[in-house]
Amino acid sequence: MSTIWIRHADVVTLDASGTILRDADLLVVDGRIACIGNVPEDAPADEILDVRGGVVMPGFFNAHCHAPMTLERGWAEDLPFPRWLNEKIWVAESALTAEDVYWGAALAACEMIRSGTVGFNDHYFYMDRVAEVVEQSGLKAQLTWCVFGVGEDKEVGAGLDGALSFAERWQGAADGRIHTCLGPHSPYLCPPDFLARISELAHARDLAVHLHVAESREQVENSLARHGKSPVVQLADLGLFDGRTVAAHCLVLDERDLEILAEKRVFVARTPITYMKLAMPVNFVTDLRAAGIAVALGTDGPASNADMDMLAVIRQSVLLEKYLRLDPESLPGDTTLRMATQHGAAAMGFAESGALVEGAAADLIVLDFDRPHLRPRHDLIANLVHSAKGADVRHVMVNGRLLMRDRVLLTLDEERILYEAEQRALRMVNQNMSQVREYRA
Ligand SMILES: [Zn+2]
Repeated sequence: MSTIWIRHADVVTLDASGTILRDADLLVVDGRIACIGNVPEDAPADEILDVRGGVVMPGFFNAHCHAPMTLERGWAEDLPFPRWLNEKIWVAESALTAEDVYWGAALAACEMIRSGTVGFNDHYFYMDRVAEVVEQSGLKAQLTWCVFGVGEDKEVGAGLDGALSFAERWQGAADGRIHTCLGPHSPYLCPPDFLARISELAHARDLAVHLHVAESREQVENSLARHGKSPVVQLADLGLFDGRTVAAHCLVLDERDLEILAEKRVFVARTPITYMKLAMPVNFVTDLRAAGIAVALGTDGPASNADMDMLAVIRQSVLLEKYLRLDPESLPGDTTLRMATQHGAAAMGFAESGALVEGAAADLIVLDFDRPHLRPRHDLIANLVHSAKGADVRHVMVNGRLLMRDRVLLTLDEERILYEAEQRALRMVNQNMSQVREYRA
């Protein structure tokens, strides 16, 4: 039995009533929060963390990302979405190897832990290697091997059979820290019969689904022209929303789509920094929430964000919504912190995370508030949403195990990861740039 006693913390619990405790203690026993508030003086503790001046809150759950795309960070800049994808991202990824994926995901894991993320929902290729990173890092994750359904020879690394066997191989691994699901890329790239097959498999094997949905008006218009229905109606008709589903983006929805997503309890993951960076028109998060849809937040891949700092995503979500609505009252800070924590955790099947209450999983972070930009402390929520940065995170704990203590990573060899990831990124891009030159010549 291991116990950690966190002392003298200001605690943002994000519990049902939004309780905030000042100068409180918190006792973690065997990976769970055993006591919050006043811990008995004689409580046994293997380790005491005195965090005076610090703020404890639930760790972040990044609800949509492609972690190994750290290797493409800063390599596809100032381009419209089709050119960004076709001329840069697909080209770089055509040289992708399983080893690249490992080091790209490891780099992402360092970055995520350093900025307070405790769980991530990853959609990419060669996912066994991402699962290894999750296992080693101590993070939680829901992982899926992205498939397109355009012919086994064109899939990256594995077709549907491979993606399914990955899902079954790793489901519940790392003491339950790894969840797996099925990940068709999107209704705009995957043929309907392939989506129907995924739906059957998801039901038969009790697997969740994670995919991209309705990212642009053009995608919706094409869907109406091809199938006579919007992407949301098409997916609902195929049964893809009948289990636990995470639909990334959902930027173009009509009233019927909103009703379906709410009725089917689909989690929508929003990644606002991608939308702003790639200049993609968006609908209002507050309209989705008003329709009763659970909205979570993510970074998306670092090629389009370009970092994995959930505090940046939180702040930009709030600013974007207020600005577009011209309404400073829309999307208050407490709501947005819940989107980045408990809604993301629920979307990935970690429903016992995301709030600091007795009995919950001890997936929590401690931020150092002894910093100029975090004083004074009138309103801890306001400081977290509008002033805190990932670099303010001092300790990170998952299932009661410290992954970072005093800004030192305890589970990953960061120096080696920075070196290997840089080498891999350069190799991937150079190789492809020479291919592009040859092609043009
Ligand atoms: Zn994505």
